[in-house]
Amino acid sequence: MGKISRSFKIENRTLMSKDTTITDFDIQAIRKDFPILKTFVRNKPLVYLDNAASTQKPQIVLDTELKYYSTQYSNIHRGVHHLSQVGTDLYEEARRKVQKFINAPSEKQIIFTKGTTNSINLLSYSWSQKFLRQGDEVVITGMEHHSNIVPWQMACERHGATLRVIPVQKDGAILLEDARKIITEKTKLVSIAYISNSLGTINPIRELTQLAHQVGAHLLIDAAQSIQHISTDVQDLDCDFLAFSGHKLYGPTGIGVLYGKEELLEAVPPFEGGGDMIADVSFEKTTYNDLPFKFEAGTPHIAGVIGLGAAIDYVQSIGLDTIHAHEEKLLKYATEELAKVDNIQFIGTAKNKSSVLSFLVKGAHPYDVGVILDNLGIAIRTGHHCTQPIMDHFEIPGTCRASFALYNTKEEIDIFVAGVRRAAKMLL
Ligand code: PMP
Repeated sequence: MGKISRSFKIENRTLMSKDTTITDFDIQAIRKDFPILKTFVRNKPLVYLDNAASTQKPQIVLDTELKYYSTQYSNIHRGVHHLSQVGTDLYEEARRKVQKFINAPSEKQIIFTKGTTNSINLLSYSWSQKFLRQGDEVVITGMEHHSNIVPWQMACERHGATLRVIPVQKDGAILLEDARKIITEKTKLVSIAYISNSLGTINPIRELTQLAHQVGAHLLIDAAQSIQHISTDVQDLDCDFLAFSGHKLYGPTGIGVLYGKEELLEAVPPFEGGGDMIADVSFEKTTYNDLPFKFEAGTPHIAGVIGLGAAIDYVQSIGLDTIHAHEEKLLKYATEELAKVDNIQFIGTAKNKSSVLSFLVKGAHPYDVGVILDNLGIAIRTGHHCTQPIMDHFEIPGTCRASFALYNTKEEIDIFVAGVRRAAKMLL
């Protein structure tokens, strides 16, 4: 394990692929790393453009999990026997990989969760218990995913606090002047998606962090849609918390991360009680384990953690800057080509955007467009993308969303655009 078999040291040159205008790396070699990309759907080669929902898995992630379950498996942390120690080492090594990947000062600050939703729920429960009081305010934006809305509504309800929302402009961006008015002395937390899953907007996270810190509030980054696209340095960002999911980073489902500043994680009470999160238990009193174990009650998703470590190795062997540059070109090309189709309306046209293309075929329901594309082997997502408030704001039921990953190609975008053109002809 650990060795990534193929020679995907990415060279900064244009290879013999037909894709020359889009990519500076050997995209065909990259595609071979993802077995599912060879799949046919409805007798057509799969064109997978639903990467904002979840990314496909490279062979190294599949191999790593298989190897763990077939030759290294045991429960971790509690055993003196060989396999338990092997598993513990692999698990803790993956924690260090995550730490380095986001440049956290210490591995103690990396808490494994089930995913972004679970990380935010952990904070909305535990952080709120320590820091949220009657009359306080939690600030989000109008484009948040339900998992960065509902947990805070629940927390505000429990503690008598108020949820405030930074409005979204027509282009899908927020204005800092609005943020300045809404983030006040009453604000205790600002919780923001770095990149919106339904619009692709990249939010001005550094400025928002400064605004939050100026009034003594904490800032949580929902990095579910940024971790796979732009390199993350939590120290440079100076965020107080950051949450992401493994499955959107080419890793397994059911595994995620919560990063937090150490003094805050120390101050916040545990989320769940059980094995592993304790130092000492008696019927009279329990003392809690040190970080990060205080927040990892019960047997964790060991294979998921180890698989996530392999996914991080994979992504790093290509480099997030290379991936980002590739995806930027894909987004630009897709936007230009789709704009040539009659009756297309883009939803989310902010200047600062990444990897998500939300649109409507005017006069057609997104669902019908999605079904026609599916018949052509093209996977996009249709609907409200778990962001109902922003759909209500734009007065639409949902959008069609194509979202890109490192393995997508210009040829796939051509197939996708031809598919939308065909759907428009059929439906209008
Ligand atoms: N936040 C954003 C911005 C997302 O895109 C998603 C997933 N669509 C989530 C949170 C929730 O992630 P998960 O379902 O992996 O917990």
